[in-house]
Amino acid sequence: MSKSVYEEIMSLREALTTYNYEYYVLDAPTISDFEFDQKLKRLEALESQNPEYFDPDSPTQRVGGAVTKNFETVVHSHRMYSLDNSYSREDLLEWEARMQRILGDVKLEYVCELKYDGASISLTYHDGKLFKAVTRGDGFQGDDVTANVRTIRSVPLVLKGNYPNTFDIRGEIVLPILGFNKMNEALIEIGEAPYANPRNTASGSLKLQDSAEVAKRPLDCLLYFIIGADLPFNTQFEALQAARNWGFKVPREAKLVQDMQAVFDYIDYWDVHRHDLPYETDGVVVKVNSFSHQQELGYTAKSPRWAMAYKFKSEQAESVLESISYQVGRTGAITPVANLQPVLLAGTTVKRASLHNADQMSKLDVRLGDTVFVEKGGEIIPKITGVNMSKRTSGSTPLVFIDNCPECDSELVRNEGEAQHFCPNYLGCPPQIIGRIQHFISRKAMDIEGLGGETVALLYENGLVENYADLYDLQVSQLLPLERMAQKSSENLINGLQQSVNVPFERVLYALGIRYVGETVAKKLARHYKNIDVLAQQTEENLIEVDEIGIRIAQSVVSFFQKQENRILIERLKNAGLQFEILSDETHFVSDRLAGKTIVISGVFTMYSREELKNLIEAHSGRVGSSISAKTHYLVAGENMGPSKLEKAKKLNIPILTEGAFAEMIKN
Ligand code: AMP
Ligand code: ZN
Repeated sequence: MSKSVYEEIMSLREALTTYNYEYYVLDAPTISDFEFDQKLKRLEALESQNPEYFDPDSPTQRVGGAVTKNFETVVHSHRMYSLDNSYSREDLLEWEARMQRILGDVKLEYVCELKYDGASISLTYHDGKLFKAVTRGDGFQGDDVTANVRTIRSVPLVLKGNYPNTFDIRGEIVLPILGFNKMNEALIEIGEAPYANPRNTASGSLKLQDSAEVAKRPLDCLLYFIIGADLPFNTQFEALQAARNWGFKVPREAKLVQDMQAVFDYIDYWDVHRHDLPYETDGVVVKVNSFSHQQELGYTAKSPRWAMAYKFKSEQAESVLESISYQVGRTGAITPVANLQPVLLAGTTVKRASLHNADQMSKLDVRLGDTVFVEKGGEIIPKITGVNMSKRTSGSTPLVFIDNCPECDSELVRNEGEAQHFCPNYLGCPPQIIGRIQHFISRKAMDIEGLGGETVALLYENGLVENYADLYDLQVSQLLPLERMAQKSSENLINGLQQSVNVPFERVLYALGIRYVGETVAKKLARHYKNIDVLAQQTEENLIEVDEIGIRIAQSVVSFFQKQENRILIERLKNAGLQFEILSDETHFVSDRLAGKTIVISGVFTMYSREELKNLIEAHSGRVGSSISAKTHYLVAGENMGPSKLEKAKKLNIPILTEGAFAEMIKN
C-alpha cells in the first residue's frame, strides 16, 4: 500500500517535471493547463499526506516561499569574465588576425550566439540537482540567490540524461518582453509608475527577499557556458547541445559556422530579425568552437581571448533637448518628459522621451540644450540613454526638479523610499480630477458606453463635472452645446450612465480609484466584506487580516474612507443606483453558519483545494483571514503548516480544525 503511494508520487513528479520542461524550456506543451493543474493538485495532496516523501526538488516547490534577508556572498569557482566588444566587421577581422597570430595558421570554426540582455547567473549542479545559483557580482564573487532562482520554471531542478557529477553552467536571467509588458500594465492599472526596462527588472527580481514574489514574475533562464572537469565534449557547439540534453534552455538560434563571412551573415540576419525574438538582445557573441583552441588563447585580465561580443548598432539617434515638461498622473505622480528636436528613430519620428523621475534625471545629468542619445527598447516610449558630452556648450547648468505642480502650483511631496514626486492637491489638481473620472469610466471599471476619455476632459473643461458622481447628474440639454455632441451621442452617453447601475460591486469598487486597489484587490475586498459600508468601517489591522491584503493597501483604503469628500461621493453614487454590495446569489450564499467568524486556513489539504475552502467559508457567510491573531475564530489546518503558525494558534487558544472537522461544522 505505502509502496504504491510512493510510486504514485514519484511518477507524478516525473510526469510534471516533463510537462514543465515541455512548456517552459521547449515552448511546446503536450497537455492542457487544466490537466497540468489537476496532476499538480493531486501531487500536492499526496505529498502533504505523506510528509516523509518531501522533496525540495518536487514540481510542487516552484511557488517559492523562502525569504532571504541577506544574500550570502559566494566566491565563484571560476571567475565570471566580461566580454570584449566589437562594433564593426573590421573589429572582428582584427580579432581573428590576433588569434591567428597566437595559434598559427589554423582553421577556426565559430559558434554564433545571441547576446541575451538580462542578469548573468552561475548555476552549480551536484549529482544532477541544482545546488546553488549565484549572481555575477564583481566577477570573483557574487550573491547566493538560489531560493529565488529555484522558482524560475525553465531552470531545471533535476537534470536528465548523462550529465557530469559536478559542474557549473552559466547564462542569463531574462524577462521576456511580453511578460514585462504585462507586469507594467498591472502597475499602470493601479496608478503606479511602470518599470523602466526588462533588464533592470530581471536583475532586480533576483534580489527580492520574498521568493514567492519572484515566482510570480515570468522570468526565463537562457544558458550558454558549461564549466567542469572532464566534460564529455570538446567544442562549444557540442556543449550547447549537451546542456539541452540535460534539460537546460539553450536558444536554438545558436549556430556553428565555418568562417568569418558566415559570422557576418549571422549578424546581418539577426540585426533585422532580433525584433521578432521574445526577449531583448543587444548583440551577438562569437566564440571559437574548439576547446583546445580556446585553451591556447586563454584570457586577458578582463575577458576570454576566444570570444567577442558584437554590439548591434542600437537604434539610437541624437537630438537636442529643448525643454522638460512634467506630466501629472491620476494619482498625482509627476513624470518628467524630455521634449526633443524631432528626430527619425527606427522608422518613426520621436519628439518626446521619458525621464522617469528625479533620480534618473540627475543620474543622466541632462541639461537644456544638450545633445542626447535616444533609444528604443522593448518599451513603447523611447528613452534617453546618455548625453553627448563633446557637444555640451559651456554655461549649461544641471536641471533642477520642479518644486511645484505644473498644473495647480501646489508644493510637491516625495514620500520616503519612493522615486516619484507627487502633487498632494487631490481635490483641486485638474489632471488628477480628469484622470480619476477617466479611470472610473474605463473598460475594466464602469465601462460606460458612449463616454470616452476625451469627452471626460471636455465635460470637465466646460464645468459640467468635477468628480465621477457629477456624471450621474448630467442632462442631455447640457451636453448639446458641447463640441461634437449631437442629440444622438448625448442620449447615448446618458443611456450608458443609466446602464452602469448594473455593474457589479467589485468593479464599482475598482472604479473608485483607491490607490493600490487594482482589479484583483477590488475583487478580494468586495467578496470579503460584501458591502461598502462594512468595508468603510475597517481599520488597517482588520484589513490586513484579509487574505492577500498588505499594509500598503490597508493604509490606502483607510485613508480613502477617512476623507469626507469620498464618503459624500459614495453617498451620491448610491443614490444614483450603483451597486455597493454583493447580492447574496452572487456569492452562492449557502448558510450563515459562519457569520461573524474569521477563519484562517493554513497548510495543504486533501479534501478541498485552498480555493475551495475559501469559497466554502464565504458561502457560509464567514470571512477568510490571512494571519492568525486574537481576532481569529478558527484555524483550519492542513498538512505541512508552518510550526510558528501552529504555535501562535495554540498560544491564543484558537480552536484548530482538521478539514474533516470543518466539513462537519458546515454540514446540515
Ligand atoms: P558585458 O557585460 O557587456 O561585458 O557582456 C558580458 C556579458 O554578456 C556576460 O557576462 C554575459 O552575462 C552576457 N551574455 C549574454 N549572452 C551571452 C552569450 N550568448 N555568451 C556569453 N555571454 C553572454
Ligand atoms: Zn497638481
